[in-house]
Amino acid sequence: MGIRENIQEVREKVAEAANRAGRDPGAVKLVAVTKTVPVDKVMEAYNCGLRDFGESRAQELLQKCGHLPPDANWHFIGTLQTNKVKKIIGRAGLIHSLDRIALAEEIDRAARETGQVARVLLQVNIGSEETKHGLPPGQLVSFAARVAGLPGLPVCGLMAIAPRCGEPGEMKPFFREMKALFDQVKESVPGLFMRHLSMGMTGDYQVAVEEGATILRVGTAIFGAR
Ligand SMILES: *Cc1c(COP(=O)(O)O)cnc(C)c1O
Repeated sequence: MGIRENIQEVREKVAEAANRAGRDPGAVKLVAVTKTVPVDKVMEAYNCGLRDFGESRAQELLQKCGHLPPDANWHFIGTLQTNKVKKIIGRAGLIHSLDRIALAEEIDRAARETGQVARVLLQVNIGSEETKHGLPPGQLVSFAARVAGLPGLPVCGLMAIAPRCGEPGEMKPFFREMKALFDQVKESVPGLFMRHLSMGMTGDYQVAVEEGATILRVGTAIFGAR
């Protein structure tokens, strides 16, 4: 199948999942994850109507966003080193992976110095996996409260990568806990702009939609295996 058919299929499955959950499919944003995907294929996805693209490396994001039309929205979804923040802040509209104070302070500082703002999501290590980045769920509220006061750092929601399980259904409790954490942070921490819950990838995006995801990050199901 080609990219157009793949996107069509993902959209249909998202709509089905949203309907099952009584949600508006239009409230779910599809981010095409383009890491390792050549520019011509990314452009093909753009020509199918996609406008949101995700990269996990600063260099690759900078290189690709120069080749796409200016109305493409870029999402930074990987581990971000503080020394790369200045380079991507005007290019990535949303950084999904804030998980430490030093990075929060650097994004805030870079925003005030450059006059460019990047919205951010707090990454949560929802499966408490040693190999994964992200805040431990138990530290999320205090971290959110600490960064809420930084003027150059609009916190717009949460992001998680669910642990790999055998069946998509096994992800459900993790996604459900993310939604609960989202609601908790939204209710208990003033000064945030909680709107987005970024969760769900190729293997589990339908479950994520059923559990309240507002942003899906899908690579393989659109572009094929990397
Ligand atoms: C690669 C990646 C994705 C997309 O993964 P697929 O399984 O190819 O859909 C989503 N989120 C992050 C953070 C990634 O690094």
